[in-house]
Amino acid sequence: MTTPTIELKPSANPLAAAEREAILTSPGFGRHFTDHMVTIKWTEGRGWHDAELVPYAPLSIDPANMTLHYSQTIFEGLKAYRQPDGTVATFRPEANAERFQASARRMAMPELPTELFIAACDALVEQDRAWVPSSGEASLYLRPFMFASEVGLGVRPANEFLFMVIASPAGAYFPGGVKPVSVWLSEDYVRAVKGGTGAAKTGGNYAASLVAQAEAASHGCDQVVWLDAVEHRWIEEMGGMNLYFVYGDRIVTPSLTGSLLPGITRDSLLTIARDLGYTAEEGRISTEDWKRDNENGTLTEVFACGTAAVITPVGSVKSKGADWTQGNGEPGEVTMKLRKALLDLQTGRSEDAHGWMHPLG
Ligand SMILES: *Cc1c(COP(=O)(O)O)cnc(C)c1O
Repeated sequence: MTTPTIELKPSANPLAAAEREAILTSPGFGRHFTDHMVTIKWTEGRGWHDAELVPYAPLSIDPANMTLHYSQTIFEGLKAYRQPDGTVATFRPEANAERFQASARRMAMPELPTELFIAACDALVEQDRAWVPSSGEASLYLRPFMFASEVGLGVRPANEFLFMVIASPAGAYFPGGVKPVSVWLSEDYVRAVKGGTGAAKTGGNYAASLVAQAEAASHGCDQVVWLDAVEHRWIEEMGGMNLYFVYGDRIVTPSLTGSLLPGITRDSLLTIARDLGYTAEEGRISTEDWKRDNENGTLTEVFACGTAAVITPVGSVKSKGADWTQGNGEPGEVTMKLRKALLDLQTGRSEDAHGWMHPLG
C-alpha cells in the first residue's frame, strides 16, 4: 500500500476578503471555518486512498453510519501561528500525529502515517493561509479527526474510515487579560479509569464529561477537575486541559497513569520550565495535599494548560465539603512567565531551541 498524495481541488468561490477580515477581527472559538477541508479515505484491504483538499462542505451521513451509534471516532487539536515575518508555522505537529496514532490503536482504528497527517494539515493551512490571524495570541486552530464511515449496526471495528482536517480561526483566549478560573472537584462523576479510554482523544470522553461540567456550573464554577476513578482523591486533569501545581520554583503535574490525556502543552512545559531554571516533575497530588499546601503557603500557584487556552490560572476551588481561594486568587508569577515563554515560542518571538516549530512559508 502506498501513501497517497493530496490532490488539490480548491473552491471556485472562497469567501470575499472583506467578509473574511470581518470574521478575523473577532473570531471567537470554533464558530467560523475556512474555505477548505482535507479528506482521506481508508478501506480495509486498500489502506489510505483518495486524499484531497476540497471546498468546506457538509457531509451526507447514512442513518446507520456506525459512528452515530458506536462512537468509533478520534480527534486532534493544534494551532498555526502567524510569525513576525508574515509566514505561518504550526507547533509540534509530529506530536499530534503520534498521539492520533495512539488514539487510533486504543479505538481499534487504522493509524494514519505521520507524514500524511502533517501533509494534510500543511495543505489546508497553505491553501487557507489568509485565514491565519496576525494579531497577538490569535491563531488558526486545526481540527484533524477520523470516524467510522461504514454503514451497519453490527458491533465491531468498521472496515471504512474517513480522516478529515478542518480549520477555524481562534481569537485570544483572554481578550480582556488573563483571568483565573474557578474549579469544581468532581467527587461523584469520573472521567476515565485505567484500562479505559482516558488517554485517547475520543469524543466519548467528552460526552461523558458534560454532566459533570453542568454540575460544576450549577455550583458557580467555570470548570470541572477530575479525580482518579478508584479513590476519588488523586488529581487528574481539568476539563480538556492538564494541570500544574507550583511549589515555589518547583512545578509538578500529575503523572500519566493511563487515565489522563497526555497533553502536548503539558509535555512542552516540562521542558520549557527546565529551560527557565525551574524544577519540573511528574507526581501525585491529592485533594487533601492541594487544600493543605495552599493553606500552609507551600503551594503557591495552580494552572491548567492545553492547546486551546495555552495556560489558564486556577483562582478558586470548590467541592462538596470545602471551598478555598488558590493563593491570592490572582494569576501567579510562574504561571504568567511560563505562559509568555510558550506563546513567544509559538508566535516566533523567541528562539526555537527544541525544533518544535514547523514552518510553512
Ligand atoms: C486535548 C486535551 C488536553 C490537552 O492536550 P494538548 O495537546 O495540550 O492540547 C488535555 N486533556 C484532555 C481531556 C484533552 O482532550
